Amino acid sequence: MKREKRAVVLAHNYQRAEIQEVADYVGDSVGLSREAMEVDAEIILFSAVDFMAETAAVLNPDKKVLIPSLGARCPMAAMLQIDTLREYRKRYPKVPLVLYVNTLAETKAECDVCCTSANAVEILEALDSDTVLFGPDCNLARYVAEKTGKTVIPVPESGFCPTHVLFLKEDVLKVKEEYPGAVLMAHPECRPEVWSIADYVGSTSQMSRFVKSSKEREFIIATEVGLLHRLRRENPEKEFIPAYEDAICVNMKINTLEKLYLALRDERYSVKVPESTATKAREAIMRMFELTE
Ligand code: SF4
Repeated sequence: MKREKRAVVLAHNYQRAEIQEVADYVGDSVGLSREAMEVDAEIILFSAVDFMAETAAVLNPDKKVLIPSLGARCPMAAMLQIDTLREYRKRYPKVPLVLYVNTLAETKAECDVCCTSANAVEILEALDSDTVLFGPDCNLARYVAEKTGKTVIPVPESGFCPTHVLFLKEDVLKVKEEYPGAVLMAHPECRPEVWSIADYVGSTSQMSRFVKSSKEREFIIATEVGLLHRLRRENPEKEFIPAYEDAICVNMKINTLEKLYLALRDERYSVKVPESTATKAREAIMRMFELTE
């Protein structure tokens, strides 16, 4: 069906293993959207959650972007409402607003620049301001505040990823005790008490690169368990231990192989972002690329 439709399948690192196996590219949200800008295909089937497919549609206005399920929505992106954003803007008119790419296009359109978990520190350092508004993940906000020494005001006050807050320090410490020689890797969306005890903190793509270049053989992974499939496939000689094996993003897992097939066969569900919103959101994303290149 992929060949028949001249389609490219992009799958996020947290997708089911069987979806990763049929994908042309597996990666993180922005990496995949950039990939989408390069591909020579009429149809992009983006297997992930709503905001990621929206980002691909914003960056690829001339391509048809499809998603396998309408229900795959990121609850953290939904925690940031436009009204809240505008309230903060009014309260802090001179403070730059940085939004994590894990946001919907309508909110991205309101910000000065986007960032990813991989480049958030770099983006904040590039801004000529000691105070920054940052949303929607308050744990990532704490992480960048610690790394940059800037005053980071979270918007909203306590947005979070329901999957990454499942990692608790006591559970992670127990796994560490069991595997004392393993490298503990954590995503910055985890609670600060978890990322602060990690040997390595980074995005899913950064973790993947780190593992490939590391001489170590055992890794404890504190992010959504879907990443372990990719890590095992890419590094068959190394061992990967989930820091918490029930850290499953149910929203990501709504997508199934059958839904991917039907999406291609019927060319559904098309992701459309109104042009005025897409233009502003694209500017915020492109500013991120400019600041990190
Ligand atoms: S893992 Fe967290 S941030 Fe990513 S899609 Fe799921 S809920 Fe959203």
